[in-house]
Amino acid sequence: MSSTFTESEERIELRRQVAKLAKGYGREWFVERARAGEKTTELWMEIAKAGYLGVNVPEEYGGGGGGIGDVAAVCEELAAQGCPLLMMVVSPAICGTVIARYGTEAQKQEWLPGSCDGTATMAFAITEPDAGTNSHNSTTTARRDGDEWVLKGQKIYISGVDEATHVLVVARAEDARTGKLKPCLFVVPTDSAGFEFTAIPMEIVSPEKQFQVFIDDVRLPATALVGDEDGGLVQLFAGLNPERIMAASFSTGLARHALEKASAYAQERTVFKAPIGSHQAIAHPLAMAHIENELARLMTQKAAALVDAGDDMAAGEAANMAKYAAAEAAVHAVDAAVQTHGGNGITQEYGMAGLLVAARAGRIAPVSREMILNFVAMHSLGLPKSY
Ligand SMILES: Cc1cc2nc3c(=O)[nH]c(=O)nc-3n(C[C@H](O)[C@H](O)[C@H](O)COP(=O)(O)OP(=O)(O)OC[C@H]3O[C@@H](n4cnc5c(N)ncnc54)[C@H](O)[C@@H]3O)c2cc1C
Repeated sequence: MSSTFTESEERIELRRQVAKLAKGYGREWFVERARAGEKTTELWMEIAKAGYLGVNVPEEYGGGGGGIGDVAAVCEELAAQGCPLLMMVVSPAICGTVIARYGTEAQKQEWLPGSCDGTATMAFAITEPDAGTNSHNSTTTARRDGDEWVLKGQKIYISGVDEATHVLVVARAEDARTGKLKPCLFVVPTDSAGFEFTAIPMEIVSPEKQFQVFIDDVRLPATALVGDEDGGLVQLFAGLNPERIMAASFSTGLARHALEKASAYAQERTVFKAPIGSHQAIAHPLAMAHIENELARLMTQKAAALVDAGDDMAAGEAANMAKYAAAEAAVHAVDAAVQTHGGNGITQEYGMAGLLVAARAGRIAPVSREMILNFVAMHSLGLPKSY
């Protein structure tokens, strides 16, 4: 039995199974991999084999036939065990959704099964160095040359390019009728001639890296264009709600991980007469963060339910709010967890400080908190556009 406010037995069981699997790896393993410059391929392949990676992708293309709520649950449970996988936000959620919804039959057959079984991870590239948040200013272009497309431009902060076989790239093509540039989506193999990338040194403790990408006259067949040349914007938006829901789940999972560690520590550590958790100065910030996180989880589930019901408009507001709330909850939870640990909070042994940047990144990517506040001010409250 499930009600509007509870998850189905099936979803709860999915969470249990993913948590069990991820526990076998755990935070220490994840951090060790990150510090050694190694990858988390075993975990990725194990979740793929169990059917969790493509749980949202239609069954006929190798997926589980579930919804975004299911893949978000997978993402959250991994993060709650200290193994947040950023590429889950990208490959199954953004790329999987866009291709499953708008790809041609041949494109779905070509790209979806590999993204579900873990052999063909797809990165996603929209951000550009000069355009930043203002993607209307992006300059990566796609030019027709006979039957082929030629892509040229640069992208920045693109996650996981080194682990990906393909990148779903947003590039602007000239409209034959109006001459205006319109966004289109192209699947670019990472081994294409003219496609280069270099890692950006980041302070996040994660095996998953960010890259600057250089696209220098990369030639692609006509079939690299996803779906409809004139529907690029709609197709792109179809990937953005799932992206926000996944980012929210990444944050709520991280918050749960930090709160669990901090609560255990606060029960055990005694400095004066009683465990430090008996002091409200320690207990209340943890309790507040837990409340914030539960609220964020509820909004995330609402957003996922709206996406799965096909209500993209309502899902847009809910997904933005969920992502905002979850990032705030994670920042507060991790900060309180560090404080609870005292000096131990910033040692490598206890692993708390390593979560600070990861949680903080949730306020910046994939869409910043300021842009969400702009969206809510304009669309939910009807206030004037400020930019
Ligand atoms: C860990 C990580 C992973 C990422 N992975 C990917 C990826 O896989 N693919 C991809 O395409 N991108 C990725 N990104 C990029 C991410 O989406 C951008 O960093 C984000 O959209 C912000 O853009 P920016 O960094 O250029 O900041 P800027 O656009 O330069 O903004 C700087 C600051 O100004 C604020 N600001 C700008 N305009 C306004 C305004 N009108 N009103 C109020 N405030 C404003 C912003 O909110 C921000 O705080 C990733 C980023 C990070 C940190």
